[in-house]
Amino acid sequence: MKRVALLGATGSIGRQAIEIVESHPELELCAAASGSTPLDDVDAPLKDVGGDLTDLLERARPDVVLNAVVGFAGVHATLWALERGVDLALANKESLVAAGELALAARERGGGRILPVDSEHSALFQCLEGREPEQVDTLVVTGSGGPFRGRGRAELEDVTPEQALAHPTWRMGRKITVDSATLANKGLEVIEAHFLFGVDYERIEVAIQPTSIVHALVRFRDGAALAHLGYPDMRVPISYALTYPERAATPLRPLDLTSLTLEFSPPDTDTFPMLALARAAGRQGGSAPCVYNAANEVAVAAFLDGRLPFLGIPEVVGETLAAADTDPVRDLNDLVDADRAARAVAEGALAAA
Ligand code: NAD
Ligand code: MG
Repeated sequence: MKRVALLGATGSIGRQAIEIVESHPELELCAAASGSTPLDDVDAPLKDVGGDLTDLLERARPDVVLNAVVGFAGVHATLWALERGVDLALANKESLVAAGELALAARERGGGRILPVDSEHSALFQCLEGREPEQVDTLVVTGSGGPFRGRGRAELEDVTPEQALAHPTWRMGRKITVDSATLANKGLEVIEAHFLFGVDYERIEVAIQPTSIVHALVRFRDGAALAHLGYPDMRVPISYALTYPERAATPLRPLDLTSLTLEFSPPDTDTFPMLALARAAGRQGGSAPCVYNAANEVAVAAFLDGRLPFLGIPEVVGETLAAADTDPVRDLNDLVDADRAARAVAEGALAAA
């Protein structure tokens, strides 16, 4: 029996994870947590709403932590699992983006594994498994392009939260759906891939593939490229991470090749500056990825509240990155300080926007 602690149990990933756990006899939920939504309908011996996630994990003694919390709030749980060598099924990309080097150092000490749940990274993980790093030429992270693919800046001035929340291929939580519309999600994913797979930013590409069938691709030094295909359904990477390395069966239909359209294009980085800002933050290192993430969280919340226009999101993030101190991050205290300071700068930029 594998004991799963599910953090973010009431969210989009959390709900699908419960379905996966219930359908696999070898998985059991030992704990479930949410931020504020009640967990009355979740069947787990330990439950916690709005409490300290690491306290819950201490009590639960899980074999695997599925971190499906949204945002920087998941960072303590990510570090808890890595520090203790407990498998980390990671949906909460923001924690790895923000904590980057700290997370890798914790994994080194703890000896645990990160099993990516983000679909592109699950795909990369599978394409890379068993290969030596020197064989790898480039990683390609794909994205649908979001609801505003093909539009120019002028056509984005007045877009509403409702329009940004209408994602063409995935049904997800509100924050990541807005991130998909700005391409901040791809930006976070480039940084996530850098830390997960130890590949330089120059060798991580983004390609737009509107139907979200190809989740990622790895080019190798001999000219071969391996791609990972599947319908856009998060139950596949969730199941893969929770049952790794067994790859347990799911009830999903096999891929029908005759019905697919596969077209690729480069991302429009002028219209969607969040991608370039992420790369710049990633290359800068230190606390810069944490600052990028914090400013984005503040800006997205303001956009959803109707306090910031859509095009204000990259403005706030750019201004915050330019203004915030981006020092080296020695420990979790430094990181929490950097996150807090960046949020304050971003709130100031909001007021000016
Ligand atoms: P969501 O908004 O649907 O759910 C978020 C969950 O986190 C909820 O259960 C909420 O109660 C919980 N939460 C929020 N703040 C918390 C806190 N302070 N303490 C404890 N719990 C807290 O979000 P989602 O779409 O399920 O996304 C979750 C994570 O997975 C995000 O990092 C997202 O980027 C990533 N992800 C999601 C998808 C997807 O398809 N939804 C795909 C790839 C990656
Ligand atoms: Mg993804």
